[in-house]
Amino acid sequence: MSNIRNTKGANSPNWRGGRQACKGYIRILAPDHPRANRRGYVFEHVIVAEEALGRFLPRGHVVHHINGVKSDNRKNNLVICQDNAYHTHLHTRQKAFRATGRTDLRHCCTCKEWKPLGSYRKISGQERDHHCPTCRAIARKEWRLKNVDYLKILKREWKRKHRNQISQLRLFLAALSLLLSSLKSRIKS
Ligand SMILES: [Zn+2]
Ligand SMILES: [Zn+2]
Repeated sequence: MSNIRNTKGANSPNWRGGRQACKGYIRILAPDHPRANRRGYVFEHVIVAEEALGRFLPRGHVVHHINGVKSDNRKNNLVICQDNAYHTHLHTRQKAFRATGRTDLRHCCTCKEWKPLGSYRKISGQERDHHCPTCRAIARKEWRLKNVDYLKILKREWKRKHRNQISQLRLFLAALSLLLSSLKSRIKS
């Protein structure tokens, strides 16, 4: 156990002065930080954002790099997002702006066209479908055409399964219409 502790931090053969690059991000050594990983490292952009905020980042909050460079942790390159959904939303809008000069469009992954973001089906919160409504409608129609036989089998199976209920319902409806016609004739006479 003491061996492991001794190889940590400055005693580690991989010691880089408490700075670590990982997948484009920079981590710095801050073992007492609430977001520290098992090795005691925290993302530098988190620390910088917290310094600007004046307190620890609330749970679930994420930091976004405006210019897309994950190691550019200058204060004015960072935006604090209240959750991951908002962060994804920012990325979607930035992608649209880079490609079209507008932020209110979304790329359809089927027809590869940019269409108004508002026309895409809402999935949850700020999340929206990746296929534009036209492509979605076409896909649904094609699926139905391709699966006509399958749908027929499903229908047949459903009928077989609910045979009792269906015949009961038929009996009930027949009785009801009998009752109605007798009522009608009674009213007339
Ligand atoms: Zn981001
Ligand atoms: Zn489309």
